[in-house]
Amino acid sequence: MAMNIQEEYGRSEEDDTHDVVIVGAGISGSAAAILLGRLGLKILVLEKKLSSDEYKANCTTFIQASALPVIRGLGIQEELEKEGAVRNSALFWTEFGWIVDRLQRDKAYGHGYSVQRKKLDPLLRRKAVEVGNVTIRLGATLDSLVESEDGNIVGIGYLGADGIRRESHAQLVILADGRNSRGADLASVPTVRRENNRFVYFAYYKNMPLKTGKTAQFWQRDRDMGFAYPFDDDLTMLCCFVTHDQYENWRGDKFAALESFFDDLPCAPDKSQALRASRMLGMRRLDDYKRPAVHQNLALIGDACMSCDPMSGVGCGFALQSAQWLTECVGDALVRRDDLRPSLSAYRRKHRKMLAGHEFFIKDNATGRPMSFLEKLISRAAVADAKVAHRLHLFIGRVISWKAFLTPPMLLRILTSNVTYARRKDELRAHEPI
Ligand SMILES: Cc1cc2nc3c(=O)[nH]c(=O)nc-3n(C[C@H](O)[C@H](O)[C@H](O)COP(=O)(O)OP(=O)(O)OC[C@H]3O[C@@H](n4cnc5c(N)ncnc54)[C@H](O)[C@@H]3O)c2cc1C
Repeated sequence: MAMNIQEEYGRSEEDDTHDVVIVGAGISGSAAAILLGRLGLKILVLEKKLSSDEYKANCTTFIQASALPVIRGLGIQEELEKEGAVRNSALFWTEFGWIVDRLQRDKAYGHGYSVQRKKLDPLLRRKAVEVGNVTIRLGATLDSLVESEDGNIVGIGYLGADGIRRESHAQLVILADGRNSRGADLASVPTVRRENNRFVYFAYYKNMPLKTGKTAQFWQRDRDMGFAYPFDDDLTMLCCFVTHDQYENWRGDKFAALESFFDDLPCAPDKSQALRASRMLGMRRLDDYKRPAVHQNLALIGDACMSCDPMSGVGCGFALQSAQWLTECVGDALVRRDDLRPSLSAYRRKHRKMLAGHEFFIKDNATGRPMSFLEKLISRAAVADAKVAHRLHLFIGRVISWKAFLTPPMLLRILTSNVTYARRKDELRAHEPI
């Protein structure tokens, strides 16, 4: 049921001073509103969408295991499961065989979730307004930033759903307005835009069971990737990331191109009874953006700060995690009304420390280059050795950093496992994951 949060919770113009103004009630903005709102702070969230039920359709929403603690902290895990969210895990296939994590022992980070955004986005908004001191103003589009004489951002200007222009003031303005952040443009935040050499298309199906049950499958075929994920509502999603030089093959019937991608793959989903359950979704240009997590006294979270190659499936998790890191760093200072500069610097450092390494590997892969020598070594070792496979899954789930993955003992293990792989190559390659 559509709920107009603005009517229900909107405050009057006279009351338009807040502790925090957040631009964007997507994943990162709503999560920040929940976490900061719980500290008793008065929060205004501006959202240009007109209904709290609107959502971002162009997202395959494989939320990585790294986000599980935040999901728990937000108090949405039970409701996600009631909605049918799938506890996700994945099997990877490369030309060297299947990489299976048989040692999933880490309960704290055992899985992430796959859930349709049409359920996730409204749930997060509802949780935010339930905090009590959070207002989400729908149909409100940011159009300016209010600066004090000393150059600090002290508020925002926006056009409301009623066509009236208003201003709101706050101790802190947070940009959570996504990859094309209007707020970042208005504040001239330095932006690095990087080309992605792949395009993506995906669609949802009914009656398409995976041979791996509730476990997702990822296939690397040359420089392309195919994904099949189970979703809530008994849906299965097929998704392909393909290099631009092959776009001609996709120009016509995209359903045919998507479905035939899986034809020759090992252990492919059974499409014989499948019914198409969505329109074709996707994007031809996936270029990503990188901006500093703090600019002047503005904080940036989620895609507004870092929108990585979607093939890595990290954006939703990083959006939730960055909202949590920001809250941890600035929450107390906001409550005490202290100078925010030291805590904003702490947030900027934390964001860089946690994500810069992941971003480095993801952006390198987005060039669409063939597998590197190191990736081949790791893939062969992970097929042959359960411990390498387990640590690789933790790295790809963004639970551990590359430094924690590629330790000297692990590098040695990868080399020795390549010897095992060479000896048992035929047997390991033919091995089915189920
Ligand atoms: C094809 C594709 C597939 C993806 N698949 C995955 C995946 O499998 N796993 C994963 O983790 N991530 C995935 N992602 C990435 C993920 O979708 C994003 O990282 C995530 O949505 C970021 O959340 P956010 O809250 O920062 O931004 P958004 O979800 O984009 O939310 C931004 C919000 O700000 C609002 N807004 C924008 N401008 C204004 C304005 N001027 N005024 C007011 N409001 C405004 C928007 O309406 C929106 O609600 C994928 C992305 C793409 C494109």
